[in-house]
Amino acid sequence: MRDALFARIEAKTAELVELTRDLIRIPTVNPPGDAYADCAQFIGERLRRRGFDVAYPRGEGTPGDSDRYPRTNVVARRAGGRPGPCVHFNGHIDVVEVGDGWTTPPFGGEVKDGKVFGRGACDMKGGIAASIIAVEAICEEFPEFAGVLEISGTVDEESGGYGGVAHLARQGFFTRPRVDHVIIPEPLNVDRVCLGHRGVWWAEIETYGRIAHGSMPFLGDSAIRHMAAVLEKFEREFYPYLATKRTTMPVAPDGARQSTMNINSIHGGLAEGFEGWPSAVVADSCRMVIDRRYLIEESYEEVRGEIVNLLEALRRERPGFRYDLRELWTVPPTMTDRNAAVVRAVAAEIERVLSRPAEFVISPGTYDQKHIVRIAGLKECIAYGPGILDLAHQPDEYVAIEDLVASAKVMAASALALMGSGQA
Ligand SMILES: [Zn+2]
Repeated sequence: MRDALFARIEAKTAELVELTRDLIRIPTVNPPGDAYADCAQFIGERLRRRGFDVAYPRGEGTPGDSDRYPRTNVVARRAGGRPGPCVHFNGHIDVVEVGDGWTTPPFGGEVKDGKVFGRGACDMKGGIAASIIAVEAICEEFPEFAGVLEISGTVDEESGGYGGVAHLARQGFFTRPRVDHVIIPEPLNVDRVCLGHRGVWWAEIETYGRIAHGSMPFLGDSAIRHMAAVLEKFEREFYPYLATKRTTMPVAPDGARQSTMNINSIHGGLAEGFEGWPSAVVADSCRMVIDRRYLIEESYEEVRGEIVNLLEALRRERPGFRYDLRELWTVPPTMTDRNAAVVRAVAAEIERVLSRPAEFVISPGTYDQKHIVRIAGLKECIAYGPGILDLAHQPDEYVAIEDLVASAKVMAASALALMGSGQA
């Protein structure tokens, strides 16, 4: 059974490459969310012609949604000949902006040296194409399969997924009994099962001062110097402390196997005016946005508390130190059980197809799994796809054709096993 399935996927190699190129050629850049409806319809029409029921739920009223840039998602569903569990493949159709440094046309889908190039080739139109070919191969080879196959193409993953997976999760698209297992073909490498991701906490710290003429700064109080005191505490105390917080989560790359914090931005003083010169005044405000990534061993309360404690210590130590802390965004860490059915099925097929054991990893950053776990309460969710993690968002992003084919085999055989045609 498995041999027939794999032979069929191999015979579809050219089709898989063409489908990847077709998807790359639809420039679904986010922001602003270009061509979402075109891409959703392209996927939906293709699957409708193959017997799937297709819906286009729009993330109406979600961030960025407008008639010019509708947040159009696609969900396609096909039941087999016998009842059984539902396996759902979810891919985000949006890509990040092109940026500089390309030597191939970013939306050309050029094929060279066994690779398909273009924005989204790796993250994650190659993964979407592989999952589409995987389910089509099942439908052709075993039209009477047990269970239900679903594919969704969703928007806005790169900007939080609110109009995409979060919206669908709220509408019940990822809730049992409609769906039992979800595989997200994000680029985590062809031989890795990604179990989840670290947590996120974004906050803005604002320090305050008192305005005065820049020639007599002693008459004012500089918010920027107060922020410098925050930075000094970060350097001297907080970063060394974070480095001691290691995790048992198998985060890849290894540098992310600990708590981290990035300073996303700092803005202090009045806006620059004529010819880019700022006014000669003491800054009365300085704002900094921090991006703290945290571990399954830490709680949100702890993560927030550390920053509050640091700021409170400064308030005691430093005359005139006043601040506000505004929380912008938080996502708890998530990690699917190593023994979950979807994890075991995909790991077994990776070993079979690639003749090496699967690696289990955790993503340093979040992706749409958070919405499926938190909003829909579905724990049977992983990421698995053909792209190479390090190439995501880079110029000359590509996906290797042999990885496309191998991942399509893994996805098809895992889906068949999970749906109950376990003797595949
Ligand atoms: Zn992605």
